[in-house]
Amino acid sequence: MSKVAFIGLGNMGGPMAANLVKSGHQVCVFDLVPAAVKQLVDAGATSAASANAAAADVDFVITMLPAGKHVEMVYLGDDGLLNNVGPNTVLLDSSTIDAATARKVAAAANEKGIAVMDTPVSGGVAAAAAGTLAFMCGGSAESFAKAKLILEGMGKNIFHAGDHGSGQVAKICNNMLLSVLMVGTSEALKLGVDNGMDPAKLSEIMLASSGRNWSLEVYNPYPGVMPTAPASNDYKPGFMVDLMCKDLGLAMETAVHTKSSTPMGALARSLYSAHAANGNGQRDFSSILEMLGK
Ligand code: NAD
Repeated sequence: MSKVAFIGLGNMGGPMAANLVKSGHQVCVFDLVPAAVKQLVDAGATSAASANAAAADVDFVITMLPAGKHVEMVYLGDDGLLNNVGPNTVLLDSSTIDAATARKVAAAANEKGIAVMDTPVSGGVAAAAAGTLAFMCGGSAESFAKAKLILEGMGKNIFHAGDHGSGQVAKICNNMLLSVLMVGTSEALKLGVDNGMDPAKLSEIMLASSGRNWSLEVYNPYPGVMPTAPASNDYKPGFMVDLMCKDLGLAMETAVHTKSSTPMGALARSLYSAHAANGNGQRDFSSILEMLGK
């Protein structure tokens, strides 16, 4: 069993840290919000007064923070992790951030001989609680072999995506594709219903045909077709429109850096931004179907 510091105990980090405690690891936590810390202490973790204090003398540090600026502050600040952790500690950042910041952190860590990986996740809050997240890891094979041991306590599919930043690239490519498939699935279902079809029958037909995709298979956006999907529960998330907007923003930023053409992703970003601006930011991302008319 390992000694782990867990920093950032929000919607995702809280249940992820709790699963590490359940797996028998010694977990020391830190968050800016005392109530989040208390929940983990009640679940069996210890706590520290700062990120650095939590990270003193541990095998792994895991961070699960909102965005790149928080990651930069926690890792690269004067009193940041890279100036404080021991040489044998492996640092894993599971936040979804831009690949450029992940590479910047990695370059600074490499200069100090500290092992770091970007390890963003796919799966959302339910998968975080169930311990079934997918991890996409960027960094060396040696770090990955160590990281896998601890990530297995929180996830089911652990991938080595490639070098530093690759985990973040894999994550945003996946979510960009997901957004396009969700819009496409919604528009196909809406077209069918507008022309007299039953959405459940149309879904059944497309699932057995070449339009089959994940949105149709496990996350049908048409209300009433799939009782367990957010669409059948007034689009309660699930995966919020605001988070999809964040990930599509990261995808577009990345595409600009490499002059990659992403016309479908750009259109999906624009549609999701308008949907958020219309007051749907906190709803599930499958509610994009309503943009096409009720
Ligand atoms: P959240 O806002 O619920 O949690 C973030 C936590 O970080 C908060 O508790 C906050 O207090 C803490 N924090 C911020 N700055 C800190 C600092 N300097 N030191 C210590 N703690 C600090 O966010 P979340 O939903 O848990 O998401 C975390 C990351 O995971 C994000 O990058 C998000 O994009 C990504 N993600 C979220 C989901 C999801 O469904 N929520 C799914 C996949 C990936």
